[in-house]
Amino acid sequence: MNPRPFSLPLSREQFAAATRAGLGRALMHVAQHGAEGVDDLIVDCCLRDPTFDPQCECARGPWIGEIAVAAGLGDIVAEKVAAALRRGPDDACAGPGYLCGVALSLARRGHDVARAALYEGLKPDDDQLAFFAADEIVELDGIAGLLHVAEQIGAWLSANPGSQLHCSPLDSFVGRFTRNEAELALAAAVESRTPVRAYLDHLKEAEARRASPGDQRAARAAELRGMSVDDVVRGIESAALRRVPIGWVRQAPVDALREFAERMHCEQDPSRLGCYLRAFAHRAVPDLDARLLRLADHADSAVRSAAHRALALYRDRQVRALALRRARAGRHREHELQLFLNNRIPGDWARLRTWLRWPTDENDIHWALMDLLDVFQSDPTDEAVEPLLIVSERTPCSACRSHAVERLVKLHRAPDWLIEECRFDVDERTRTAVGTAAF
Ligand SMILES: [Zn+2]
Repeated sequence: MNPRPFSLPLSREQFAAATRAGLGRALMHVAQHGAEGVDDLIVDCCLRDPTFDPQCECARGPWIGEIAVAAGLGDIVAEKVAAALRRGPDDACAGPGYLCGVALSLARRGHDVARAALYEGLKPDDDQLAFFAADEIVELDGIAGLLHVAEQIGAWLSANPGSQLHCSPLDSFVGRFTRNEAELALAAAVESRTPVRAYLDHLKEAEARRASPGDQRAARAAELRGMSVDDVVRGIESAALRRVPIGWVRQAPVDALREFAERMHCEQDPSRLGCYLRAFAHRAVPDLDARLLRLADHADSAVRSAAHRALALYRDRQVRALALRRARAGRHREHELQLFLNNRIPGDWARLRTWLRWPTDENDIHWALMDLLDVFQSDPTDEAVEPLLIVSERTPCSACRSHAVERLVKLHRAPDWLIEECRFDVDERTRTAVGTAAF
């Protein structure tokens, strides 16, 4: 692999790809070479979330805002983000949650238009379960921000009795100030800022309603213990269960698991078969069943994928043979790489790297690289270095990159260029990981 896979300045295409992936090189490019030729891309990213997987990855807004300011586009972007927040969600821009992240980044860097937009944007979401901009205002202004948020939400709660917000801007700021500091400040403000009382009462009621995490876990464990194989099979057949609860699979007695496997092997419908099989990705029945191996050649792609993941749990020469066959054929879009998880021997990477055929679809690439990460993440030898570097370079997902970088740092094998770039990565964990690395 190229010892340093990029050079600055980036081309327009490389810059677009780097902002989408959250790679530090996008910020480095702007800091060293300005925004000429990419300024429209930056403004666009500030209004439209480019994140590959917003559900799994960290919020992209603050990082994009940082790039905009470094590019000298802070004023333009602040105006546009403020206008978009005022306008409300539409097809031309991301939702308020994303825009508030961009605005926070700009406000922190002295853009008062963005600060005002956050304060103006403090309002309940469509479901009236949370308040947009609440977290950002407290993040920006600390205790003063918290008092403002508490007062505004308290006033809204008084005007909308019976509302049950899911958020608690007390819990969001651990690290910025302690919960105790926040509670003391709020208690002191009750006399002079009446609506704060309504906010505090609401928090107290919400806390009383909420069962403790321990109680919730115990109740769920009892519920899962009470589920028989028949219950689970009925759930699959009636489509009431879209996935078998992992907790049930993990705690089921071995005999129940064997019976569940037998019921699976009687199933013909590919969608139900896939549902059974996905349960066995979390726990294997002792002794490899030849019928499970045959499912790896099923006509249905989803069944084959699930069978590969179930087979990956076995250390077995037949599974290794299948892993090699699939890899040699350049097949890794259906979790075939997982087959190496327990069936790899030293030196396999040298073969694997010549067989890998990366898919073109971004989702397929993400899954294949996640599998590669799983296979090499716990390998303490130098053989893991190149696959981990490939994951960090090619994954479209900043969360996967973070895992690969953390591992490379732990192995003391993160190259200097990677450490340098990761200091500007979108993901705080990646930045932290290299903060402790030699440079
Ligand atoms: Zn990922």
